[in-house]
Amino acid sequence: MEIPDKMRAIIKEKAGRGAKFVMKEVPKDLGSHDVLVKVYAASICGTDLHIYLWNKWAQEHIKPPQTMGHEFSGKVVAVGKDVSMVKIGDFVSSETHIPCGKCKQCRTGNMHVCQHLQILGVDRDGAFADYIRVPEIVLWKNDPSIPHIWASVQEPLGNAVHTIFTEDVTGKNVLVTGAGPIGLLAIEVLRVAGSAKIIVSEINSYRRNLAKEIGADVVVDPSNEDLVRVVKSETNGDGADVLIEMSGNERALIDGLTALTPAGRASLLGVYNSDVSINLNDMVIFKAIRIYGITGRKMFDTWYKIGDLLKNGRLDLSKVITHTFDFENYENGFQLMEEGKCGKIVLKL
Ligand SMILES: [Zn+2]
Ligand SMILES: [Zn+2]
Repeated sequence: MEIPDKMRAIIKEKAGRGAKFVMKEVPKDLGSHDVLVKVYAASICGTDLHIYLWNKWAQEHIKPPQTMGHEFSGKVVAVGKDVSMVKIGDFVSSETHIPCGKCKQCRTGNMHVCQHLQILGVDRDGAFADYIRVPEIVLWKNDPSIPHIWASVQEPLGNAVHTIFTEDVTGKNVLVTGAGPIGLLAIEVLRVAGSAKIIVSEINSYRRNLAKEIGADVVVDPSNEDLVRVVKSETNGDGADVLIEMSGNERALIDGLTALTPAGRASLLGVYNSDVSINLNDMVIFKAIRIYGITGRKMFDTWYKIGDLLKNGRLDLSKVITHTFDFENYENGFQLMEEGKCGKIVLKL
């Protein structure tokens, strides 16, 4: 296949709100271990929305101009001279954390917290483009049976899987605080993993309804209802066995820990805007609970899990992915994300 010189791309052009649709050079200069991928589908992440809105985090981390996006699926169209893990024609997705492979964490099974981590679409050009250049080490070969659109959301799906499976959930009562796109993916994973009862708290009514459709047994509006009381009454007064914190909201964390049964487990993926104050004695120490901080996906344990779950038809992502747009209509996607009237949104290239 002929690779053109120019490609479509959505870039963060300069400081301030928004994103720009441009034509730019295809990154054909491949290092010996680089791979060029033709992007089929790319999904919009909360991180992309932060960059679009140009919030404090984006101002501190992004150096425009840069191609946005990091969640994608596509086809390998060119490889550097020493690439051996993939070949032209392979259907791939990519881990978005690019590890150095040399530091202590990389060498001890913790590449996802590499000391020299580079993130696609944050530290280097991303996937909102017809072509993306990535090192072979982060590529993941998809089973050809997986739909392009589903394959593009494996990065956030991996976040959900990593958060949930830090310990087992089968037969357990689980509280999910926050039903944004990753929280919604978590509900699907929990359903498939055989959790006993799935309780979800979310302030956005669109997402509460979606949570119910996907498989939440109980949905709570924490702005109207007492979350701790609902969880207790839904669990014979015991409290939840597992807390999956996806909101990054201090109140949700405190209520979630309060609603957790003694000797329970909490896994925290949500990112907080500022310092959080909790009563460690009452909420953690005397309750003997375990708290896990979760970032990214275990490389590549998490990818093997999601790859196999998708390949074997265990997960159904059709309800979580609520919208797909043609690439040029990306503004519609960002608008829906900002309003919160969506699950996962995928752009088709
Ligand atoms: Zn993402
Ligand atoms: Zn490293």
